Amino acid sequence: MKILFTASECVPFCKTGGLADVVGSLAPALAEQGHDVRVILPKYSMIPAEYEHKMVHTVDFEVALGWRRQYCGIEQLERGGVTYYFLDNRYYFGRDYIYGVGGDEHERFAFFCRGVLNALPLIPFTPDIIHAHDWQTGMIPALLRIQYAGLPRYDSIRTVFTIHNLQYQGIFGIKDVQDMLGLSNAVFTDDKLEYFGNVNFLKAGIVYANEVTTVSPSYAEEIQTAYYGERLDGLLRARHNHLSGILNGLDVREFDPATDKRIKATYTVNDLSGKAENKRALQEELGLQVRPDVPIVALIGRLNSQKGLDLVDYVIADIMREDIQLVCLGLGESRYVNLFSWAEQNYPGRVSANFVMDNNLAHRIYAGADIFLMPSAFEPCGLSQMIALRYGTVPVVRETGGLRDTVLSYNEYSGEGNGFSFFNYNAHDMLHVLQRALHFYRERQDIWKVLQHRGMTADYSWLHSSRIYLDLYKKLLPLHLGEGKPAANAPKAETTEKPAPKARKPAAKPKAEKAPVAVAEEAPKPKRTRAKAGAVKAEDKPAKAPRARKAAPKAEKPEE
Ligand code: ADP
Repeated sequence: MKILFTASECVPFCKTGGLADVVGSLAPALAEQGHDVRVILPKYSMIPAEYEHKMVHTVDFEVALGWRRQYCGIEQLERGGVTYYFLDNRYYFGRDYIYGVGGDEHERFAFFCRGVLNALPLIPFTPDIIHAHDWQTGMIPALLRIQYAGLPRYDSIRTVFTIHNLQYQGIFGIKDVQDMLGLSNAVFTDDKLEYFGNVNFLKAGIVYANEVTTVSPSYAEEIQTAYYGERLDGLLRARHNHLSGILNGLDVREFDPATDKRIKATYTVNDLSGKAENKRALQEELGLQVRPDVPIVALIGRLNSQKGLDLVDYVIADIMREDIQLVCLGLGESRYVNLFSWAEQNYPGRVSANFVMDNNLAHRIYAGADIFLMPSAFEPCGLSQMIALRYGTVPVVRETGGLRDTVLSYNEYSGEGNGFSFFNYNAHDMLHVLQRALHFYRERQDIWKVLQHRGMTADYSWLHSSRIYLDLYKKLLPLHLGEGKPAANAPKAETTEKPAPKARKPAAKPKAEKAPVAVAEEAPKPKRTRAKAGAVKAEDKPAKAPRARKAAPKAEKPEE
């Protein structure tokens, strides 16, 4: 199968969060199973020189964006069985940030989406599946169906769109986008691209992709409710037959305490003495009191309200009344930078606040800490709690999204569980559960060891989830249906989908704390909904087949 990932970030080239980890680890996991997997990304100037030097210029051409004609180069790099393409335009991507600052996000990612589609015949590569990730690439399934349907190199391509975080949607003025992408008024209706008077790139992906996925089974259910649905719940309910939740995996080679070169001492589940050494080294490094008996509670992640930090803010004094040390690593909102800076000053030798993006330090914290606190308001999947589990750092989480699918609260009666969790978005519930975890850490090391053992021995690899993605891709391909006729698999016309209902159900209310339901010896297996592919309807003017400006040097892995 020929699979093209399109994304705005990917490890090891550029990263702001879990999206980069997922793209950078799922692509090689699929390639390892014998598929031709390629990834296309913007070529940001922050990509480390070691990779930039290895890139080979493949082709360049012009991309038309309204009245503008923009240079678009394609640089290529082979790594770990995957071909990476970097879409080069210094004006849009020659900046030292990935998102945000310039106020021209719509133009940057409209350019990216158009550039990706126009590059395909020139690379040359005709994927069976384009797997687009998050809003930055949401216009790819839309443009493909609106403007490229019927074109020989594009007609057979099927699309999967993955929502990594529904909160980030890419909402822009219609006029700004319409002109750049040459879209007619007919597609700016509320069943297509229009969203409360604007255009929404994430919605474009959800409406036009053949299949929509998100990154955990629980989040796939939650986003169909008004409480978590970010004003797209109606559309998601309408597409529920084409929506599934597939739990993210980890790069288990990158995050392995037995071989990790970034930590002071490696360790295994059978010999945790290295973990104690990492704890002492972390306390020394961060200026904390060197005390083996005091539990270190760690927080690693983006510092914003999604991560439940307002709960921490509310009870920080109660948390620090416990005999603990607190370590925070993250970048984000000034409100939380101020909170942890204040705590660091107020509790000298007990709190360490680190406002940097530092992968090596993240590894040292996962290895050296005892408890990982992640009280998220919502969490599409969350990788940090899985990394913590793998490093024997027991998670304390809120039961939402992927946290609910990976962490099972310890049940004293049945003995089940691999961490601690609470359900209501309530600071005192979080405090109470953190105190419960501290009780087991201090008084019941026997149980603590069992929890660590379960966390460290569960399977967080991509093996299971990558197969679910492959099944989903196969289902979209003509041969998989056995008839060999593309028409037999012809996706349903988009008009057969129910329009997004306008009325909303009242917000889902958090229920009382539930009893744990299953043993979490292994990462729980995601459910999957079966669905058919959706159809392409030629609308608007078909895009002209793009032409290369220069003769393209041969790609290293040419398709034809
Ligand atoms: P999200 O995608 O919402 O940011 P995830 O838990 O899915 O959250 O993934 C976050 C990833 O980014 C984890 O691998 C985490 O270790 C890493 N990370 C977050 N902040 C930092 C930071 N400041 N320095 C290093 N790694 C970080």
